[in-house]
Amino acid sequence: MNEERIARLTPEDLKKALRVFREKIHSEYAAYLNSCVHCGLCAESCHYYVADGEIESIPAHKLNLITGVFKRYFTSAGKSIPWWVGAKELDGETMREWVDSLFGRCSLCGRCSLNCSVGLNIPYLIRAARSAMASIDLVPLGLQSTVNTAIEKGNNMGIPEEEWIETVRWIEGELQSEVGDKNARLPMDERGARLLYTVNPREPMFFPLSIAAAGKIFYAARESWTFSSKHYDVTNYGLYNGDDEAAAVMSGRLVTSMEELDCETLVLAECGHGFNSNRWEAPEWLGRKYDFEVKSVLEIVADYIRQGRITLDPSRNPASVTLHDPCNLVRLGGIVEEQRYILRRSAANFVEMTPNREKNFCCGGGGGQLSMTQFAERRLKAGKVKADQIRRTGAKVVVAPCHNCIDQLTELNKHYKLGVEVKTVCEIAANALVLGRGEEDAS
Ligand code: SF4
Ligand code: SF4
Repeated sequence: MNEERIARLTPEDLKKALRVFREKIHSEYAAYLNSCVHCGLCAESCHYYVADGEIESIPAHKLNLITGVFKRYFTSAGKSIPWWVGAKELDGETMREWVDSLFGRCSLCGRCSLNCSVGLNIPYLIRAARSAMASIDLVPLGLQSTVNTAIEKGNNMGIPEEEWIETVRWIEGELQSEVGDKNARLPMDERGARLLYTVNPREPMFFPLSIAAAGKIFYAARESWTFSSKHYDVTNYGLYNGDDEAAAVMSGRLVTSMEELDCETLVLAECGHGFNSNRWEAPEWLGRKYDFEVKSVLEIVADYIRQGRITLDPSRNPASVTLHDPCNLVRLGGIVEEQRYILRRSAANFVEMTPNREKNFCCGGGGGQLSMTQFAERRLKAGKVKADQIRRTGAKVVVAPCHNCIDQLTELNKHYKLGVEVKTVCEIAANALVLGRGEEDAS
């Protein structure tokens, strides 16, 4: 698909890609493009390079692919003596390299920036190059289809509204049986509720237990909350394909739901890139500030514990539990301690993997990798770093506050025969819930 498109590239296409690329490189980023001191410190920070040892996987090499093009068209030395300054023509061959390296060897995890000796924001520049490719239809098909489905159908799995509502009603019935209270609810379109809760569409399709878990926690906390029947998709693959306009449409729908339902706080389910997109990036994409609060569900649940709104019994989760830190939630999103606070109170034996928190390695599933099937083999190979981290903990349960990561960890579990269960934070917390007297009376 990309080969066919590359073969059809016209000079006008390349001009358009260059224009979009230049628009993304503001002056502070242009300075980055000349700052690499070739120290090589970033190499070992990238899970791709750690796993395959290939030059093409070194972050500085990926940066160099971008820098060369910038120099060729936007610096005087690059225009007059391109061979001298390592400037690079933007042509079909360069585009082939960009697709392979900037889509196929990067999960936009940000770990290289953390370790770069001069603090270069490498994933920002890689995303800028992805934006240029998106402008001329060079995004790998699987990733672009995910964005197209979300734009056309309202959620990235194309779930019809009736099916979403039916699934929620079915989970509600299960919740009522579990807590023994026919008044337990998963509210839909309740105007004026305090919280609007969003989910990854993979939850209603494949992981109803994670919706049930969040519903059970809200029930125990006697929260005022609601789902929207129309816009509930927390994901935003525009972050990954580099298309800001599409990203604005997706995040804008959640803003519309907040306004229509008049809620106070937009609560983002356990989804790393959904958190980073909707909490931090969306105001820039939308060109406006939010006039409501945006929180991760982990912040909400941690608050319930601190305020004594829910009670947890860690002995209900006796197996050893370790925690994966999703890059977009932790390193790039700033939600670091809440998940630990919850897990220490929900599980009897919580063990950290090493390294952890901001220094944690990517699982390999971010950056849209799970949707780009042509790079699946590379993704699994790069995931060995995470598989080794998990194995070293000896844990029986891996908790990941992100459904993207859960998909990759589930594949790694099978591929590397880790023998673990993979769960969300809310699933562990819900299992540890001690329901209050009111709920017990109702049963
Ligand atoms: S952002 Fe992550 S995957 Fe991409 S080059 Fe840097 S360390 Fe590697
Ligand atoms: S760590 Fe930073 S300065 Fe050093 S080679 Fe990598 S990108 Fe360049």
